[in-house]
Amino acid sequence: MKIRTRFAPSPTGFMHVGNLRTALYEYLTARHGGGSFILRIEDTDRERYVEGATDIIYKTLETAGISHDEGPDVGGDYGPYVQSERLGLYKPYAEQLVKEGKAYRCFCSKERLEALRSSAKEGEVIGYDRHCRDLPEEEIEAKLAAGVPYVIRQKSPLTGESTYHDCVYGDITIPNEELDDQILIKADGYPTYNFANVIDDHTMGITHVVRGSEYLSSTPKYNALYEAFGWEIPTYIHLPLIMGKSVDENGETVVSKLSKRHGSTGFFDLIEEGFLPEAIINYIALLGWAPADTREIFSMDELIEAFDINGISKSPSVFDYDKLEWMNAEYIKAMSSEEFNENAKPYYDRLGIKEEHYALLEEMLKPRITRFTQIEEKLEFLKSLADYDISLYEHKKSKSTRETSIDALTAAIPLLEECNWERDAITELLMNLAASKEVKNAIIMWPVRIAAAGVAVTPGGCSEVLILLGKDEALRRLKIGLEKLQA
Ligand code: GLU
Repeated sequence: MKIRTRFAPSPTGFMHVGNLRTALYEYLTARHGGGSFILRIEDTDRERYVEGATDIIYKTLETAGISHDEGPDVGGDYGPYVQSERLGLYKPYAEQLVKEGKAYRCFCSKERLEALRSSAKEGEVIGYDRHCRDLPEEEIEAKLAAGVPYVIRQKSPLTGESTYHDCVYGDITIPNEELDDQILIKADGYPTYNFANVIDDHTMGITHVVRGSEYLSSTPKYNALYEAFGWEIPTYIHLPLIMGKSVDENGETVVSKLSKRHGSTGFFDLIEEGFLPEAIINYIALLGWAPADTREIFSMDELIEAFDINGISKSPSVFDYDKLEWMNAEYIKAMSSEEFNENAKPYYDRLGIKEEHYALLEEMLKPRITRFTQIEEKLEFLKSLADYDISLYEHKKSKSTRETSIDALTAAIPLLEECNWERDAITELLMNLAASKEVKNAIIMWPVRIAAAGVAVTPGGCSEVLILLGKDEALRRLKIGLEKLQA
């Protein structure tokens, strides 16, 4: 049997990492088994429809490296792949069930259903009372002739129980009396969400259904339909929720469904924060699935190779932003110079950094950044000299004080003025100066770097900072530093 999986997002305008994980696991299930991955847009709920949302779905999949074999944009043999373009397809299936006595027309008015609902006692949920389930044929004919609007409902089994198997949650059994006589076709002739979902999965030949665990409880209803039609039930893989960790007002750690208050939850929000698509995918692949070994870094091809449904855990996983940050840093460290520069360039451009400094910057930044968005903040000092406080010159570890700083700058400035502006030459010059004064290197390097950068923390040492600034700007700043110290 050829595996066919589908990602069936509703176009809501936002791709939550939970949805992306669903898409990824469907993709990996298909690819690992040499099958096909299908994209279907479930847009029957027009109230929730958001303009442009479908484009976000395409863009997400493309950026994430999850490619579909069939879908609205690429076509395929099972189209159309957008539910709103399939509307005419569903009703005949419901009519077939009516003919076979497995579904019926329900003429109950809104008012009657409303009265039924409001008769419920507190905390009680009243389903449909099956009033029209066994209407005499003449009455049905008369109502149809009179044009009374109707919905089509499934005749659900009234007794016994239903069991189905889920690959993650195991066997799930429910008493059949819990099954409502669900509506298949609404009064306007359009299918309900659940009905369309089942008809689509079957007619598109879907073999494995991967989706969030919130669908576990509706699955018996779906199965009742498969059974009514005599169709094969797909393999179910329901995924546990993704949780987030926060600290409440009493300082206690609380774990709850991942939401905005835990951090970014949208794929593109994370990208905007500087996380790399490959790192996000790698991270969420491990959010609920464990490989057979202890590896943590996986390319998409490696994921396809290693992915196994049996490795999916039913215990909810917690989205760990620190871990994602760590993983992102690993991806940055593993980049070629070309990739690194390409990612860094937009930030370099904003700082006016020239290409001649790319190699030096790569060496300085690669081990120090966890996201490219940090570049601007780390190199902010290059843009302009901050109005810093001279207490920065006092540094216990270097034994640097105001006095030693005045000495160091007074001696270093004329030497640097004569110096060939190269990194090694500058380092050598400053070290020689320290040697001739019989002081530790830091007594010279600390104040020179502070005067040049105007901030305590820089990525890279004294010579790197001087090189990046260029000779004129560096010397201008060193002189300002000396003046500040002497004032
Ligand atoms: N359209 C549903 C959603 O976005 C998908 C349900 C399913 O995968 O069966 O949650």
